[in-house]
Amino acid sequence: MDSPSHSSVIIVGAGVSGICAAKVLAENGVKDLLILEASDRIGGRIRKEKFRGLPAELGAGWIAGVGGRESNPVWELACKLGLRTCFSDYSNARYNIYDRSGKIIPSGIAADSYKRAVDSAIQSLRNQELGGDEPPSSASIPKTPIELAIDFILHDFEMAEVEPISTFVDFGEREFLVADERGFEYFLYKLAEDFLHTSEGKISDSRLQLNKVVREIHHLRSGVSVVTEDGYIYEADYLILSVSIGVLQSDLITFNPPLPRWKSEAIEKLDLIVYTKIFLKFPHKFWPSGPEKEFFLYAHDRRGYYTFWQDMENAYPDSNVLVVTLTNEESKRVEAQPDEETLKEAMEVLRDMFGPDIPDAIDILVPRWWNNRFQRCSYSNYPIVSNNNQLNHNIKAPVDRIYFSGEHTSEKFNGYVHGAYLAGIDTSKALLEDMRKEIMERKSESQTLFIEPFIACTDKVTNLSQPDTVSSPHKCDIPTKKYLSRKVGLPEAIL
Ligand SMILES: Cc1cc2nc3c(=O)[nH]c(=O)nc-3n(C[C@H](O)[C@H](O)[C@H](O)COP(=O)(O)OP(=O)(O)OC[C@H]3O[C@@H](n4cnc5c(N)ncnc54)[C@H](O)[C@@H]3O)c2cc1C
Repeated sequence: MDSPSHSSVIIVGAGVSGICAAKVLAENGVKDLLILEASDRIGGRIRKEKFRGLPAELGAGWIAGVGGRESNPVWELACKLGLRTCFSDYSNARYNIYDRSGKIIPSGIAADSYKRAVDSAIQSLRNQELGGDEPPSSASIPKTPIELAIDFILHDFEMAEVEPISTFVDFGEREFLVADERGFEYFLYKLAEDFLHTSEGKISDSRLQLNKVVREIHHLRSGVSVVTEDGYIYEADYLILSVSIGVLQSDLITFNPPLPRWKSEAIEKLDLIVYTKIFLKFPHKFWPSGPEKEFFLYAHDRRGYYTFWQDMENAYPDSNVLVVTLTNEESKRVEAQPDEETLKEAMEVLRDMFGPDIPDAIDILVPRWWNNRFQRCSYSNYPIVSNNNQLNHNIKAPVDRIYFSGEHTSEKFNGYVHGAYLAGIDTSKALLEDMRKEIMERKSESQTLFIEPFIACTDKVTNLSQPDTVSSPHKCDIPTKKYLSRKVGLPEAIL
């Protein structure tokens, strides 16, 4: 059997964070890296699929955080590449709330309900932050369909994160939907192209291995080895693990020795959010379309039941496509049933809103993020009440030579594409720093090793901290940077 391949760094996962991490390493001279990706493509949770000729973004769709004091790096890249985007204004959704009889709830009533829900959400956040464990007053618990619909968009969309939301504070409050034939993933291919060989628009570099499902990670202080599902073994000095928090919480990857308790407890503490965008194609449009009509809500007595709708007219004119978003338990329920059942439910909801005579959808696309064993979630959420600084520290802290990356490791921007992008960069910077330290330590160790016999034979007292003063370099050469870099498999560029 061939001996296992050896690299300086193995990167597990070719989503945004994995590709960014690899790019930073390559740019800093770590050329013998290896990216192992379980699926047959790069991009992870950025994923475009053709749906009736339309590039449907099943995963990340929006570049959130635009127009603020700092520039969002993903927005910058999108602009540089000329990705087509559309501004999204969700604020009008609350004025387009349909009840089950198809009537739009008057804007005054909707605005009052919205204000009450925001006040109560802020109050309950404050209570939790102050450590209060009083149950919410019964008046603040949403009960009516309109209260439930507003509660859903507030908590599962607008206020799903701990305030203040760093994305909006740092990068601005505007959000743009990517609506480009090349897909959101195009920006990632362009990043990969900077350091991986491509031919005819495809990545053809053997340092990217697709369909390699990592099942075991063996880690020692001196290195790592991984075993993939197809029985191959890969060895490296270091490993960057960029799989989702859902995968970390699952049993897909076994660690040997097991991860320490502080790490596994931190992993278990993060909440997994499942977010499902269901695409529906119609023969013609029967819903109101135009300015301020892009988003609308359906108020049902079951929370989150086909509540949040988007007309794709802005993104794809004349496409006659609607997208309805489900989350968490509703997502899991729908993932588990046949698509025809989901289509039937969605049509009943649309007939409640727009009457019995509307045409049936001619096609449906239901992504399954929860049941995808390489994802097991759409994104991470930090719990509202917890010491999140400590938790984030433990989530991203390395274990032996395993470095953790991915959106969930981002201190300020978890859950977002820019969070994954910046996390990839941060992880590689931290790793490069540790590699440098290791080289310096080895250098001083080897100096001691090489100098001591020399001292013994000349019986000359030499200051070890100043090896340049040692004479007879032809006999007892101090190892050069090149030697050291070969010894620990590190490139000279990072020295
Ligand atoms: C439905 C949905 C909507 C979203 N909407 C937005 C949005 O509008 N705006 C926004 O900014 N963000 C959004 N996000 C979040 C955003 O997509 C993610 O934060 C980001 O893409 C995560 O990148 P990552 O590199 O951390 O992880 P991933 O993209 O998950 O990359 C990890 C990679 O690891 C691979 N992998 C997993 N297990 C293994 C294994 N055992 N061996 C080898 N490889 C493995 C996976 O296949 C994957 O390619 C959304 C996500 C989803 C799912």
